[in-house]
Amino acid sequence: MRILVVEDDPDLRRVLTDALKDNGYVVDSAGDGVEGHYLGENEPYDAVILDLGLPEMDGIKVLEKWRKAGRTMPVLILTARDRWSDKVKGLDAGADDYVVKPFFTEEVLARIRTLLRRSAGISTSDIECGPLRIDTRAARVTVEGNPVKLTSLEYRLLAYLAHHKGRVVSRTELVEHLYDQDFDRDSNTIEVFVGRLRKKLGISLIQTLRGLGYKLDESAAEPEANAAH
Ligand code: CA
Repeated sequence: MRILVVEDDPDLRRVLTDALKDNGYVVDSAGDGVEGHYLGENEPYDAVILDLGLPEMDGIKVLEKWRKAGRTMPVLILTARDRWSDKVKGLDAGADDYVVKPFFTEEVLARIRTLLRRSAGISTSDIECGPLRIDTRAARVTVEGNPVKLTSLEYRLLAYLAHHKGRVVSRTELVEHLYDQDFDRDSNTIEVFVGRLRKKLGISLIQTLRGLGYKLDESAAEPEANAAH
């Protein structure tokens, strides 16, 4: 899951970026409205944290422009405590939720998880797929109750597929959502990671659809050794 943080306060931007990274997300950040708007318009984010008081272009304007251009990613706005009217303006401009400053990072993380789940049509913080269970709060994965240790990239890959369970996800889409903008992207490496992930899970929940991409599907849950690829 790839998140954009638009916040002009460098300390706050760092706190949010670090917390998101620690929780298994890929993060891009911008310190002003123009750069933030550009990134949100051109890169495929799974969610955005958008401060409203920004230099160059204010957050409301940024949000209005995205929505007008048909950008539908979930947006969490950050508002100042004494500016209740900002919340109303922000929600009217197309924000999905808001957090009032000062906030606890945990609250922002919880709201981001909720927005990601909601946009994927999932109602609980645990995502299940056959014997696989992903606790998105703790970034923990189990198969039939047994913990599976994944690297952060493997976790991101699995979490992305799980949020889009039952749908074919192309390699290009995975690359765009698993790496930040500065990463040297090579869609061939995705295949390697999928292979490793399958081996670690020990069950074949991830189907390969030649030329199309991958699909997490519980109907394919057989022991990996017997499964066809
Ligand atoms: Ca600000």
